[in-house]
Order: sequence, then C-alpha cells, then structure tokens
Amino acid sequence: MHGCFWHFHGDPNCPDRRRPKSNLDYWEPKLARNRNRDAGHIAALEAGGWSVLVIWECETRDLATLSASLRAFLN
Ligand SMILES: [Zn+2]
Repeated sequence: MHGCFWHFHGDPNCPDRRRPKSNLDYWEPKLARNRNRDAGHIAALEAGGWSVLVIWECETRDLATLSASLRAFLN
C-alpha cells in the first residue's frame, strides 16, 4: 500500500499526484529515495519468490475496481 505523495505515484491521472512546489532541494531527493527504496523492496520480494501487488492510495476510493484487482491478483 503506497501513499501517492510519499511513494511518488507516477500515474498522470492520479488525483493525489501532488508535487512539492517549494524546498525542492529537500523534497526531490527524499521522494526519489522513497521510490528507489520501493523498487528495491519489490525486487527483493520477487527474487524471494513472492508476487507483489502495489496498491496506490488513490486506487482505494473505487472499491469495486480495488476488489477486482485484489481478486485477480489472488487468483
Ligand atoms: Zn495515486
């Protein structure tokens, strides 16, 4: 489960795709580290034989679509 801001959701249709407008010297490296860390965690899980489904915060608002995604992943 990824929060769209903290985990830097890249989908241009994300309604929560806020980007900092000030203090960019702080925010841009921090958010890039979060994103790189996420990629590393996913790669490590997959290397260990796990399947990974990332659910973005903005995807939790449409419960029917979320439910379908979870069912498809778990089946
Ligand atoms: Zn999002």
